[in-house]
Amino acid sequence: MADPPQLLWAPQAWLDGRWRDAVLLRVAADGRWAEVRPDAPVPAGALRLSGPVLPGLVNAHSHAFQRAFAGLAERRAQAHDDFWSWRDHMYRVALRIGPEQLEAVASQLFAELLRGGYTQVCEFHYLHHERDGARYADPLTMSRALVRAAARAGIGLTLLPVLYQRAGFAQAGLRDDQRRFASSVEDVMRWRDAVRAQRSPRVHAGVAIHSLRAAAPASIAALVEACAGDDGPIHIHVAEQTGEVDDCLAATGERPIQWLAQHAALDARWQLVHATHASADEIDAVARSGAGVVLCPSTEANLGDGVPDLPRWLAAGVPLSVGSDSQITRAWREELRWLDYAQRLSLRRRNVAAAPEAGVPSTAQRLFDATLAGGARAAGFSHWGLSVGAPADLLVIDRDDASLLGLPIMHWLDALVFSSPGRPWRDVLCGGRWVVREHRHADGDAIARDFTAAMATLGLDSSQAVA
Ligand SMILES: [Zn+2]
Repeated sequence: MADPPQLLWAPQAWLDGRWRDAVLLRVAADGRWAEVRPDAPVPAGALRLSGPVLPGLVNAHSHAFQRAFAGLAERRAQAHDDFWSWRDHMYRVALRIGPEQLEAVASQLFAELLRGGYTQVCEFHYLHHERDGARYADPLTMSRALVRAAARAGIGLTLLPVLYQRAGFAQAGLRDDQRRFASSVEDVMRWRDAVRAQRSPRVHAGVAIHSLRAAAPASIAALVEACAGDDGPIHIHVAEQTGEVDDCLAATGERPIQWLAQHAALDARWQLVHATHASADEIDAVARSGAGVVLCPSTEANLGDGVPDLPRWLAAGVPLSVGSDSQITRAWREELRWLDYAQRLSLRRRNVAAAPEAGVPSTAQRLFDATLAGGARAAGFSHWGLSVGAPADLLVIDRDDASLLGLPIMHWLDALVFSSPGRPWRDVLCGGRWVVREHRHADGDAIARDFTAAMATLGLDSSQAVA
């Protein structure tokens, strides 16, 4: 529930890609912005915010349960460690987590995401069944745990039940350690509709396909057909690993993004997660389709995925967003920094994302504005940010943060992304509710205690996780 209608006033706010002064913000009873007006005097009865405000960003790709694994996969026990060995370890964690533990882990994650500047999270959810693979009496048991966690933390949720059918292009079914993920097109549609039927104002639902290797072409076609006329998002992992590109080529004669562009009727609802290994032709095809791309820079670095062709994605005008994916990082400032740093390291240039020729010399501004708009699309929002009709979300910047001291405000976005560490979000408003005040999440201590207790019951440590 939103707090009663409220009137806020900020000394500066980020509106339409620039700082505006003296901004009045009015929250409607439904938790959305009813009025956003710059150059306004402080109205009587308004809450005067202590610093400039930014809109919250969407975290466009998350697997909440993997928060339990962060920090437990950073030791190498054998000669070689890569994405696929990491995935085997991750599956062992996935096989241990029940609904109560998922709720505790996700609550901690979601509270951290709010403190990290995200106010909406797209949950790519494939942990559907009991540990032994049996169906729960209530098939939404695990989904409901995520919905409760989002409500407890106070973050917006876009739940994406995942179609997951086979272990690889040449396999008919799943591996035994993938037994909790099994789902049909009918399951995914039923689960999506059941989440929507709850009519929770901050919970939205779309659908996802795990990957081309995990769903047969006929199933993908059937899911797309079932979504005809619906404007909810459709997410898919694609081309994260070169091995996956090779397997797709061997099975279909086409590269993964090429296959999607040729056979999946891509449109603006589609979000291609990772898209790390994309040719120029594939990027152009995605641009023509209107689909977006979700990059997860810290996870892609952690897993050794590779470096995306960011300059070409940006030049093609493809909608771009970021996700925390494996939860190794839970702040968008770090994701945007890593997004450009990977380019700098590989190209041996600086400020790769900046576009001075388009009047945007700031790398941080280019990436922030791109991911603000792209994230909204990934989460299924037509209105987002500090604009009328969008969810009443914002981040109040702590003007005393060390990273901002002595800098003119025109460089604040640059410093927020490229000067670290720092704790810049003093207060966070989500759906018209203050969920973080003076750097503290309203329920943060209890959520952290429950998370710690859940971790103890999971019994994970590096020897078990890596064994
Ligand atoms: Zn993922």
